[in-house]
Amino acid sequence: MAKLDFISELGIKDINPGGFSTEWLGSGSDLESITPTDGSIIATVKQCDSGDYEKIMQDATSTFKKWRMEPAPKRGEVIRKLGNEFRKYKEPLGKLISWEMGKIQAEGEGEVQEMIDIADFAVGLSRQLYGKTMHSERPGHRMYEQWHPLGVVGIISAFNFPGAVWAWNAMIAAVCGDTMVWKPSSKTPLTSIAIQKIVNNVMEPMGWAGVMNLLVGSSRDVGEMLIHDRRAPLISATGSCGMGRKIGGAVSKRLGRTLLELGGNNGIIVMPDADADLALRAVLFGAVGTSGQRCTTTRRLFLHNSVSEDMTDRLVTAYGQVKIGDPLNGTTLMGPLVDDGAVNDYNEALKIIEEQGGKILCGGNVLDGSGSFVEPTIIAATPDMEIAREETFAPILYVFDFDSIDEAITMHNSVDQGLSSSIFTGDMQSVERFLSHAGSDCGIANINIGTSGAEIGGAFGGEKDTGGGREAGSDSWKSYMRRQTNTLNWSDELPLAQGIEFG
Ligand code: NAD
Repeated sequence: MAKLDFISELGIKDINPGGFSTEWLGSGSDLESITPTDGSIIATVKQCDSGDYEKIMQDATSTFKKWRMEPAPKRGEVIRKLGNEFRKYKEPLGKLISWEMGKIQAEGEGEVQEMIDIADFAVGLSRQLYGKTMHSERPGHRMYEQWHPLGVVGIISAFNFPGAVWAWNAMIAAVCGDTMVWKPSSKTPLTSIAIQKIVNNVMEPMGWAGVMNLLVGSSRDVGEMLIHDRRAPLISATGSCGMGRKIGGAVSKRLGRTLLELGGNNGIIVMPDADADLALRAVLFGAVGTSGQRCTTTRRLFLHNSVSEDMTDRLVTAYGQVKIGDPLNGTTLMGPLVDDGAVNDYNEALKIIEEQGGKILCGGNVLDGSGSFVEPTIIAATPDMEIAREETFAPILYVFDFDSIDEAITMHNSVDQGLSSSIFTGDMQSVERFLSHAGSDCGIANINIGTSGAEIGGAFGGEKDTGGGREAGSDSWKSYMRRQTNTLNWSDELPLAQGIEFG
């Protein structure tokens, strides 16, 4: 149990073997938090029931009326304190993320760093929620637009980034003047409780307890209540394309807004003139990092015929050296999949791959012993393999050959998802071709870096079935506010627009 010291550092106390109790509000059924490292129960969490939901939603709704009137830079000051609190807990929170979800500690701590970075970004943003002024066509008139807070934002997050996805939404929504209710994945309840504890440490003494609220519960119960609740004008949901279709449909039925961050099927194109060492490292991190469970994971690799054999051989050798094991061991490169359900999906996909003519070049096995460990896998694929068009959330990389950049881009764009993409080349024409209107159709298109590991300063999100939402940097904040156009008449006349004379 020495490994679990970080849990008490996080202030989520009363851990006993296989059990967990706290002053947590939930009055619903129990939910077990299970580590995929050995399948043991870390904690048992009380979920929210419909009564808890109502209380939390009412708190968020009434707090909004006060929070929206707090000047934005003052809201930024609260987020500055929160970011500093995340800094204090970077190591234990990063370890908990690793233990509960399975990503290696470096990535767990990297995720907390992302929470800190987006908090810093939001602090600056709190003084930059700019609107435009326009020149009116009417004399003695002034036009401008301003941005108002939206209300209670419903945040639904996926298991694979159990902290960062919430933070991208929460930090920005908070400086925009919104309050929020967060429904995390039921696979990572303990991480969300630890984060809420850190939030409470900062917010409660400042009198802002109702700004950020947590709702641990199943999608069938509290999730469904949230998406149908008109008190939440925006639902920001991160998860699979299937989930997005369902939530998008339910929210649009009540004419609410959605911000959808859904599945990817990301590709890297390697041109003949590419720096092969760079490309190799990028593919390895992109395809194996987080055990292939990032939305931006590299799932498809397009190799020019002239480099294909050499690059594939080098990749197979590199895959053979990936150390798989305990995510908290500093030498491990790949931890387990999130649970045994994910291992089944991996096995199922491999069966279909073989049926569809794919050839396993390396990997393809589930590791013996406890825990949800699998081997990272490379598949020699052909463009007609339907399975390669799906996002199997596991470390399976499909390799395709191509002759021309046009062929590579066509293959790359032929899938339903449109999140992240890259090309490795030193050739200016190939770069511009890839970035042109006829190039990559993804929300993210990179040159000489891989598909995963985005910085928070840019707008993050994807096109097509990836949902079209944008989170984090640039002007993504506009999704969390409502725009109002104001026209002021300071003349003694009442001229109508378009020169209309009336009466
Ligand atoms: P998932 O779709 O199974 O679940 C995501 C969240 O949606 C969970 O909290 C779940 O409880 C909730 N949910 C599902 N149905 C719901 C409903 N009817 N009402 C309310 N809530 C509901 O996804 P997952 O397995 O947790 O995560 C993996 C998926 O997330 C992958 O497809 C991955 O690509 C995607 N993802 C996308 C991004 C992005 O930014 N584009 C980021 C991270 C993960």
